[in-house]
Amino acid sequence: MICIGIESTAHTFGVGIVDNSGKILANEKSVFTTENAGIHPRKAAEHHKLIYDKIIEKAMKSAKIEFKDIDLVAFSQGPGLGACLRIGANAARSLSIFLKKPLIGVNHCIAHIEIGKLYSGFKDPITLYVSGANTQILALASGKYRVFGETLDIGVGNFLDSFGRTLGIGFPAGPEIEKLAKKGKNYIKLPYTIKGMDFAFSGLQTKLNNISKKHSKQNLCYSAQETAFSELVEATERAISHIGKKEVLLTGGVAANSRLKEMMEIMCRKRNIKFSAVPPSLAGDNGTMIAWQGILEHKAGKKTRLIKSGIKQHWRIDEVNVVW
Ligand code: AMP
Ligand code: MG
Repeated sequence: MICIGIESTAHTFGVGIVDNSGKILANEKSVFTTENAGIHPRKAAEHHKLIYDKIIEKAMKSAKIEFKDIDLVAFSQGPGLGACLRIGANAARSLSIFLKKPLIGVNHCIAHIEIGKLYSGFKDPITLYVSGANTQILALASGKYRVFGETLDIGVGNFLDSFGRTLGIGFPAGPEIEKLAKKGKNYIKLPYTIKGMDFAFSGLQTKLNNISKKHSKQNLCYSAQETAFSELVEATERAISHIGKKEVLLTGGVAANSRLKEMMEIMCRKRNIKFSAVPPSLAGDNGTMIAWQGILEHKAGKKTRLIKSGIKQHWRIDEVNVVW
């Protein structure tokens, strides 16, 4: 069985093709970027509208398959930006009708976890999910992915991107901040906000804005990363001692950051816990994770009727019954 997966929750239009054994046949994407601003939802949607057919074609070519070989069409049904989600949903509906193949709308956040499980071979991890809009500590309990800790304000990726704007870096800023941080030497003391299992980044963001002219970009980026990532590692460590699982998975766009991976690795090693981070190609939003999620849910007998395929902008992860 071959599934094509379409991702369009925010900045990325992605198309992945996966078979039922988990073999990745294609993982193509185009990311909306800016020189010195953030994501404008309508402009990102315009970007998706201009390139969606080309990315689908590109994925078909890399997978070396024809449309008749596709058995299932999966798409990111939510959560995300309405204007962007609609482009992917429309493309998926059209493909499903044209190919006369079942349609399956999946939860984007769950797909980030399941692709990490496929990659790592982990069965029941605690997941630190770090992306632009979302930052959560998740684990499966009584049939649902439950939120054990999360950001009280903005996602860590959004924090990095908006701090990047202060520094005059375009979107996405995470990779450039990582490069600058590697050259930083002096830690600048910054607000560290952690409340039980939850954490917050807006105080940190305000402080960085206020002092941005007083220090080098390198030291600012270094201190921003050390502070924000320490919050994430501390909360995950607490989750391990509360929940008692033996595996920790790092997933989402910020999981591409080598310093965050290193800090998580050190913490897990000390606690004798297995650790894995998704590779950069599967860290940021991608269609491959959507295709794989489609396969998992299809195997469990799920499908999405056309009339039920409307987008769900605010679809929380803990609303989904994990039946696969
Ligand atoms: P996602 O929404 O899962 O695609 O994640 C996108 C977010 O990941 C954006 O906020 C990026 O700035 C961030 N990001 C991407 N690469 C890196 C990196 N190497 N270090 C830190 N953040 C990153
Ligand atoms: Mg994402």
